[in-house]
Amino acid sequence: MLGAGFGGLELSTRLSEALGDELDLVLLDKNDGFVFGFSKLDVMFGHSLPSTVVHHYRDLVKPGVTFVQTTIRSIDPVQKHVDTDAGGFDADIMVVALGADVDPSATPGLVEAGHEFYSVPAAFALREVLADFKGGKVVVGVTSTPFKCPPAPSETVLLMHHYLSERGIRDDSEISLVMPFGAPIPPSPEASGALLAAFAERGIQWHPDRSVKALDPDRKIAILSDSTELQFDLFLGVPVHKAPAVIIESRLAVDGWVQVDPMTLETSFPDVFAVGDVASVGTPKAGVFAEGQASVVAEQIIARVLGTAEAATYDGRGVCYLDFGGDLVARVEVAFMAGEKPAGKLEGPSVELAYQKVLFGSSRIQRWFDRSWTSGKR
Ligand SMILES: Cc1cc2nc3c(=O)[nH]c(=O)nc-3n(C[C@H](O)[C@H](O)[C@H](O)COP(=O)(O)OP(=O)(O)OC[C@H]3O[C@@H](n4cnc5c(N)ncnc54)[C@H](O)[C@@H]3O)c2cc1C
Repeated sequence: MLGAGFGGLELSTRLSEALGDELDLVLLDKNDGFVFGFSKLDVMFGHSLPSTVVHHYRDLVKPGVTFVQTTIRSIDPVQKHVDTDAGGFDADIMVVALGADVDPSATPGLVEAGHEFYSVPAAFALREVLADFKGGKVVVGVTSTPFKCPPAPSETVLLMHHYLSERGIRDDSEISLVMPFGAPIPPSPEASGALLAAFAERGIQWHPDRSVKALDPDRKIAILSDSTELQFDLFLGVPVHKAPAVIIESRLAVDGWVQVDPMTLETSFPDVFAVGDVASVGTPKAGVFAEGQASVVAEQIIARVLGTAEAATYDGRGVCYLDFGGDLVARVEVAFMAGEKPAGKLEGPSVELAYQKVLFGSSRIQRWFDRSWTSGKR
């Protein structure tokens, strides 16, 4: 199993639950722990401490699963062999869940004059940057598609509004959001409507159908794809996403990502599967979709090992929680079915759903690591 993120943890857990000691799964990851995407925002805005949101793989003890912390250097999908800093590994079945990397240097001026908030180190470092911010023009901007968790930039401006209000500097500030879509969440007109209303109520400026092409560090200007310019004192960017280098350098990458059968998640190489952000499935890059895809691959492997009937295929469904700030969370159910127009139903925002989102995280940590966790949020 390549990668111990959302997809890798779900797949390992499913297989261990079903096969126990019969399983011989090696779980490889270069990091020493897992962090939920939404925990990055919690840490940035001072709602959680970094130490409470890292879930260490040393705590992962599951029948049939061996975790090895190492960097994967090359992948041979024909031989189902990987080379890593800890040596070579051979597999009967290989599942790739290496996620998406971010490349802030691909956007001129972003590293010099702005901050990305999509990697763990950058989001954790922003905690201090935000605490030192004295108010001014804040621009949150997306630099390209695809990007992880399309609702996250909308959540970021709403959380920013609450953060600056609580610190008493909202009146001295402006908040703008630049997105390459015509609506905040295109598959859900209902959720998009609720977000646009929330932006309007809170005085957040919305710049649709544009991305941020470059920052001018001297003039502190964000240059948008239609050549308009936005002045900023604080720029938070969603950087360019790409598959990890080890994927690009392998025979797995087609058009930059791993192509799979969207129903079975199998690649063009027999017994090699790919799930989550690294794969081109037609669903957004989000943990809930990585999880759903991992569970379909797990079912196929279990059916094969136990000799049971044909396993389920992937249905493109997922539930997404939208943080409106001020302890209000909404829930969107999205479905991306093959050949159908994507659809998304909205519930909330409400305090009850904020509690449900905490349970979403803690129940997964409990299953994946066999221990309980609360986000430590205020
Ligand atoms: C700000 C933000 C908020 C988000 N909020 C949500 C949300 O509310 N809900 C939601 O569903 N999703 C959310 N996401 C998206 C979510 O975090 C990702 O889509 C999800 O983690 C993808 O799962 P994955 O298994 O494909 O990849 P990941 O979870 O990214 O896991 C990939 C793993 O591969 C490892 N890896 C990569 N390359 C190598 C290598 N060469 N050698 C060894 N290991 C390697 C990495 O260390 C990593 O652990 C958010 C993301 C962000 C940035």
